[in-house]
Amino acid sequence: MAANDPNAYHEELMITGAYNELLRGYLASNHRKKVEIIEKAFNFARNAHDGIRRRSGEPYIMHPLAVATIVSQEIGLGSTSICAALLHDVVEDTDYTVEDIEAQFGKKIATIVEGLTKISGGIFGDHASAQAENFRKLLLTMSDDIRVTLIKMADRLHNMRTLASMPANKQYKIAGETLYIYAPLAHRLGLFAIKTELEDLSFKYEHPEVHANITSKIAKSEQARNALFEKFSAPIRERLDSIGLKYEFSARVKSCYSIWKKMETKHVPFEEVYDLYAARIVFECDNEPDEKRICWNIYSEITDLYRLHPDRVRDWISTPKANGYRALHITVMGPDGNWVEVQIRSRRMDDIAERGFAAHWKYKIGEGDEESELAAWLQTIEDILKNPEPNALDFLDTIKLNLFASEIVVFTPKGELITMPKDASVLDMAFTLHTEIGTHCIAGKVNHKLVPLSHKLSSGDQVEILTSHSQQAQPSWSKFLVTAKGKTRLRAALRHGRRIVIERGEQLLQAFLNENGLEASNETITRIISNEQAKNKEDLCYKIGNDEIVLSVKSFKKGKQQNDSLFSKLLNTFGGGKPKEDETPLSDIDTKQVYVLRSENGESNYTLAECCHPIPGDDVVGYVNEHKKVIVHKLNCPVAMKLKSSFGGNLVETRWEHTREKFPARIHVEGVDHMGILQEIIYIISTNLAINIRGLNIQSEGGLFTCTLDVLVEDAATVSNLCKRLKNVKGVNTAARTDR
Ligand code: MN
Repeated sequence: MAANDPNAYHEELMITGAYNELLRGYLASNHRKKVEIIEKAFNFARNAHDGIRRRSGEPYIMHPLAVATIVSQEIGLGSTSICAALLHDVVEDTDYTVEDIEAQFGKKIATIVEGLTKISGGIFGDHASAQAENFRKLLLTMSDDIRVTLIKMADRLHNMRTLASMPANKQYKIAGETLYIYAPLAHRLGLFAIKTELEDLSFKYEHPEVHANITSKIAKSEQARNALFEKFSAPIRERLDSIGLKYEFSARVKSCYSIWKKMETKHVPFEEVYDLYAARIVFECDNEPDEKRICWNIYSEITDLYRLHPDRVRDWISTPKANGYRALHITVMGPDGNWVEVQIRSRRMDDIAERGFAAHWKYKIGEGDEESELAAWLQTIEDILKNPEPNALDFLDTIKLNLFASEIVVFTPKGELITMPKDASVLDMAFTLHTEIGTHCIAGKVNHKLVPLSHKLSSGDQVEILTSHSQQAQPSWSKFLVTAKGKTRLRAALRHGRRIVIERGEQLLQAFLNENGLEASNETITRIISNEQAKNKEDLCYKIGNDEIVLSVKSFKKGKQQNDSLFSKLLNTFGGGKPKEDETPLSDIDTKQVYVLRSENGESNYTLAECCHPIPGDDVVGYVNEHKKVIVHKLNCPVAMKLKSSFGGNLVETRWEHTREKFPARIHVEGVDHMGILQEIIYIISTNLAINIRGLNIQSEGGLFTCTLDVLVEDAATVSNLCKRLKNVKGVNTAARTDR
């Protein structure tokens, strides 16, 4: 800044002035005086936005300053929120990251800034109105910290106040959003003054002429109205003074927007809106229990003077409105013969009504579950308010907003919003989007991090679904699904998949029979079924179609040959086969036969040993335990070795029935860390057909990285294939399966 530049000098004064005004208001509040951190946030933001201007030509920092001032003076929040408001556009608009904010200002402020960055911009495409309800929920649910939502309201309020400098088409769009989303939200949060201002500003930009017209008519009628109010209020003042009450008695003209709404709904011209204004009495009262009695005293004084409209007494003192509003409203016949509404409130009720603050973030409660979910939360607030502690305003820190505990809202990569039930997984989201996406889902990217398809989503997550053409729906997926839609679509996909496989199997079988000059007689088919150990013809065709059975001459020969297996060699080595005397006799499982390991719908007739985690393709052995359960070990597993020597008779040769079941395996990758290596590894995994990622743990130290990768695979070959591909990545030294 050149010292002799009068313009720069002027700006410097403007910025300093705005900052001093922020501090002045803050120091006048009940908050602890943490000026130092506010000063730091101000300087940080000012520096970050240096040289940037708003559309109005003002230095950018004027915007965060104004938002912080609203947050402090109009909503009543403290230093944490003021700092977050000052920093709210830094991450989005400059090169600084959330990590930078955290390093400078700590976790809490950083989290709020992150929340604000997440819900800014990019949300309103062409489907703004369709997205509005979702967005409203998002504002309420995604923020663990309600301050995110409150600062967002302040941000919007300032943008509305300065909307004039935007081009007309944007004005229209922003005003629409405000009226549709932010004003109702402000209402729900009990921020009545902000709600009214947002409505009026929106109305002004959406219907400029009507707005100007009503504004001028209000102004023109002011004198007459004042005279009338004087006449109406004088006798009341006399009475209230005589009972020694301290109070403020004023006439409040309705907002332009609500007058217009009345004109629209009642189809009347301005001149026929008789309740243009309401009279309001706000009395001082230090003792809360007295409030109610005083309200009714005032009531009785007024009704002695004027005729009461019996149907228009609203007692929101005994039963406050759902959004927290408390007051006594009555309507009486004024001196000119028109009805006048009189609102009677204590100062405390008035503060809450105008500013809302956390005191009464109550909803206009509809039917259903919202109400019960709200109840607990509201109780917490009420309890805290009844027992104000020294730093009662800090109670925000302890409250997490869980208004819609049963719902979450997530983003698609394009910024569309999707409402899902709580605990919904990546797979749920995939099936919600489309059956095809669900069927071919291999993993997800949540906030750009790779996650397995079972990963549970949280509100505000940005979710990308990774798919692969070769992926097929798995029966075991049902346990990752919580949505009814997901479950139905999965079942349909599984049925559909099976039918296609069977059809293919039938064709292959027919071709095989033709090749070998065989008739498709019952006898031949039955022999093939028996030789191939299938259950029936459908099962046979399914297995053929799935390449689990490859038909050969053996398939239709009478009798079936057994090969000398590694297992029988091993048994010979260990001299097993004869049960020892003290061993449990085995009745159900014949250890002379090959035991077929089966899984259906997540139920298995075997257990995988925890010590060695075998998967199909490994050389394995079954150990029949005392509960007649078959535990499958790797043949070279030390535990299995021990079992062989002690309980040889309980060993059984096993064979996996070929299914689409997937098995957990762990891969250990080590290498030299360099830019992009991780992306490459992730790319290989995520594009690999038959692999589901369940976990990924990466550590990097001193230029070396180690990565543990938990995957779900069909067999050992898939794992060794993956390892081979991983080893080809430049920088990777080892990639191998481990027993963990
Ligand atoms: Mn902003």
